[in-house]
Amino acid sequence: MPRKRFRVGRSTTGLGLFAIAEITKGATIAVYGGERISTDVAAAREKRGARYIFEIDKNWSIDGSPRSNLARYANHSCRPNAEADLVRGKMILRAIRRIRPDEEITYDYGKEYFDLFFGPTKCLCVKCTERRRKPKRSKPKRRKPSGAKKPLPAKRGKRPPRSNPAERQFTAKQ
Ligand SMILES: [Zn+2]
Repeated sequence: MPRKRFRVGRSTTGLGLFAIAEITKGATIAVYGGERISTDVAAAREKRGARYIFEIDKNWSIDGSPRSNLARYANHSCRPNAEADLVRGKMILRAIRRIRPDEEITYDYGKEYFDLFFGPTKCLCVKCTERRRKPKRSKPKRRKPSGAKKPLPAKRGKRPPRSNPAERQFTAKQ
């Protein structure tokens, strides 16, 4: 197991995972630990409110509820910097881009979970918060400075016209 790459800290939604040092793209951040349970057991525990169960395949799941499983603190984002992946039957968190120190580590929980627990009006991720904050109707437009002239059409004429036979020949070869 590589050196610990993250810490648990305060985020906008409660607790979250944060990078200790820079994490390179593609690096494994954490293994999602927990008990391996059958689909039936998973369904029963979910009915009782378990929220950290990960489906591995149609027969097996991992119940990541134990406190020792720090990966469970990774929050959802619709604009994530990590992804969940299965490697030899184990669920891992992997960086999908470079993550800077102290940046929160997030991944996309998937459509099913999103629809069930968040929805576009409740999701607290950066992307959804930004979208809700934007005024819906009036899009800010850049003011045209007074006295500005339209771009000169002459500039466009400098490019060779599309009907240029040499150009047509070139594209036909490709
Ligand atoms: Zn979101």
